[in-house]
Amino acid sequence: MEKSLLRKLPKVDDLLKNEKIAPFFITMPREKVTDAIRTVTNLKRAQILNGEISTLCDEDIVNEILATLSVSNRKSLRPVINATGVVLHTNLGRANLSQSARDAVNSVISNYSTLEYDPQAGSRGSRHVHVEKVIQKILGVEACMVVNNNASATMLSMAAMGRGKEMIVSRGELVEIGGSFRIPDVMKESQATLVEVGTTNKTRAADYRKAITENTAAIIKVHTSNYKIIGFTEEATLGELRTLCDEADLPLIYDMGSGLMLDLHEYGVDEPNVKDAIKSGADIVLFSGDKLLGGPQAGIIVGKKEYIDRMKAHPLARVVRIDKMTIAALEATFNEYYNEETAKKNIPVLKMITMSMEEMEKKALLLKEKIDRIGVFETAVEDTTGVVGGGSAPSSVLKSVAVSITGGGFTSEKVEKLLRKGDLPIVARIKDEKVLFDIRTVFDDELDLIADKLREIAGK
Ligand SMILES: *Cc1c(COP(=O)(O)O)cnc(C)c1O
Repeated sequence: MEKSLLRKLPKVDDLLKNEKIAPFFITMPREKVTDAIRTVTNLKRAQILNGEISTLCDEDIVNEILATLSVSNRKSLRPVINATGVVLHTNLGRANLSQSARDAVNSVISNYSTLEYDPQAGSRGSRHVHVEKVIQKILGVEACMVVNNNASATMLSMAAMGRGKEMIVSRGELVEIGGSFRIPDVMKESQATLVEVGTTNKTRAADYRKAITENTAAIIKVHTSNYKIIGFTEEATLGELRTLCDEADLPLIYDMGSGLMLDLHEYGVDEPNVKDAIKSGADIVLFSGDKLLGGPQAGIIVGKKEYIDRMKAHPLARVVRIDKMTIAALEATFNEYYNEETAKKNIPVLKMITMSMEEMEKKALLLKEKIDRIGVFETAVEDTTGVVGGGSAPSSVLKSVAVSITGGGFTSEKVEKLLRKGDLPIVARIKDEKVLFDIRTVFDDELDLIADKLREIAGK
């Protein structure tokens, strides 16, 4: 029995010539194709020897090989449909770029560019100028530098301004941003000495004043992006710290995190914005490119030229330097902010956050209809809540609209799992035994893709 089954197992050479498998040689390395064939035939052989199967069908074997091939052909980094309602989902790549940023990246990606070349002068230029021009215009700052991410910006400013000296931070602001990025540890790496003042819940301007010595290099204020201390609390404002820094002739550094450029309070987003931060007197303001700014991963440092020149000349500057793709995307993203109204439409992150309930309801109904056409699931349009995410605005709740599905003979866990296991993973949430597609973070052209996947899951 076993032996006759084993004899029926197709030969690798024959499978290589199979009319459905052979075309893969055009798009894939031969080795990958043979690997997939071996994986499947070895599995079948083991199943026969263990007595797990008693029949063999060539067509099934070929189909299994095709499935294995399409999985091994997948890119590891590939698009995902975000139906979680979390706008800045750190695991899903935070901000998605505007069309203008995508075009800008495309235009420099496979051509030579003016990255460090001044075509007017015919001589060497600086990679910093491209973003500096537009940032100076929009934010009215003296100088600017962009680095790999805001973590690098923090590290570089501490190293360039505080090495061998003391920097004062409130005990209420010694944040961990994620992973191993903790303000005290970064400070240690930058060889500046951390001077903690105040307490977890209360720090006053007087606490900073008492800590100032001859060896103080700066006062740093860190926005507590990913948590809120509520109740019996007090913190020194930027204005108070400005006064203090003027008296003591010290620079004031503000790590504000999100890079929010507009006032989004009316949409429920409770975050400081860059313009207010600059106006309130910080000498240096640091923020991320791919949070509420809505651009590529980057750290943006704006403020006084004297300090930023020091950072540009620091050896770490080369270590945290950004690539031309990022510069292109960032320049285009900042260009959008010349007009705040169009920025809200063109920058996906802002568009999602400012989307009206009516618009979301319309989109949700469209998705519901598409899913209803499969005729398998019970669906409903429901109100739900999303968050900004990405370690921003922890207490902000975004009122949102979702399509929920149940039924079809599947548990919600099963559907959620099948949704994310395909070539194009669809990440949804489960709530009250239902699978929820939060419509806020789903693009219009993804509605059909969600419905198609559900149809496939339903076997229709
Ligand atoms: C997010 C954040 C950072 C880290 O920024 P990345 O761009 O993720 O490196 C640093 N400081 C604050 C206050 C933040 O919110």
